[in-house]
Amino acid sequence: MPRSVVTGGAGFLPSHLCDRLLAEGHEVVALDNFLTGSSDNIAHLKDNPKFTFIEQDVCQPYELDGDVDFVFHMASPASPVDFTTKAIEIMMVNSEGTHQSLKLALAKSAVFLMASTSEVYGDPLVHPQPEEYWGNVNPIGIRGVYDESKRFSEALIMAYRRFKGVDTKIFRIFNTYGPRMRLDDGRVVPNFIGQALRGDNITVYGTGTQTRSFCYVADLVDGIYRLSQAPKEVSGPINLGNPTERTMLEFAQEIKRLTESESAIVYEELKTADDPKQRRPDNTKAREILGWEPKVSLEDGLRATIEYFKGKV
Ligand code: NAD
Ligand code: UDP
Repeated sequence: MPRSVVTGGAGFLPSHLCDRLLAEGHEVVALDNFLTGSSDNIAHLKDNPKFTFIEQDVCQPYELDGDVDFVFHMASPASPVDFTTKAIEIMMVNSEGTHQSLKLALAKSAVFLMASTSEVYGDPLVHPQPEEYWGNVNPIGIRGVYDESKRFSEALIMAYRRFKGVDTKIFRIFNTYGPRMRLDDGRVVPNFIGQALRGDNITVYGTGTQTRSFCYVADLVDGIYRLSQAPKEVSGPINLGNPTERTMLEFAQEIKRLTESESAIVYEELKTADDPKQRRPDNTKAREILGWEPKVSLEDGLRATIEYFKGKV
């Protein structure tokens, strides 16, 4: 039975990854310090004999007994709100945390996979974004703590691949949503759905012409799983995202329609400088190398997410 370590295992995406790995017959060890995660996300796994949870800051040195076949380094705050409140923690988990996780993979001869991000492309000047694009990042801007530390992670991972021989795989996640997102994490999906369900104003930041492309969590996790099964030659980075692109104004209108909300759509100032004006993945590599394509439509994914949030507002 393969054994997988998932850092950040009590988080939104990582907890879904734990579910998928268990369904594939893996034994799973999840590590988390609850910086942005919640034990609620893994409560359903507590009696599963194949699942172990360890409260651990993955920036600190740690050891694990037994064999490990895969290390999925998923730990990191991800909401732009956290770029101001958890700036240092973000830098640390994407530097020292990545280093500790790589050392674990090296010691156990495990495959190492890392959750990188479309934010490595910054405010992109190429559209849609292929993996070959080096990006347009402001290193000293408010978003720099996230963007640059993920870029540092990618460089460190490639060094471990080139000079230590670790089988490493980088995937760049584009905006992904679904059940278990935190209603108050500040990202656009929980914000708009929460506001619409409560009947509050739906807050579009800036002009609302900026775009994002939203991927449903089950599709994303399927892409990560496929990548884990790829041979050593496949190192990525590989974009994982849904190319269905919306302006934030269109997105607000869509959520208002799906929730049948009476909320008004209002404009507020942008909350972070350097907010990317457009973002859409070029999925050619994922399609050709992994045979992966997102399957869940935006409407179906949003309906499932709205149902989840109905129980939380
Ligand atoms: P999340 O905040 O729900 O999950 C991250 C988890 O990491 C949390 O449970 C948190 O407590 C944990 N964590 C943070 N620092 C830690 C540390 N030092 N030690 C142990 N655990 C720690 O966020 P998410 O949206 O599920 O994102 C998961 C990963 O995917 C992150 O690496 C993020 O950068 C990446 N990502 C997500 C998206 C997205 O759209 N959701 C997009 C791009 C990249
Ligand atoms: N946004 C918005 N209203 C909100 C929250 C976010 O208009 O209440 C915008 C934000 O400015 C950005 C986009 O939605 O242009 C996506 O923001 P999010 O925080 O979800 O993630 P990002 O893609 O910026 O990392």
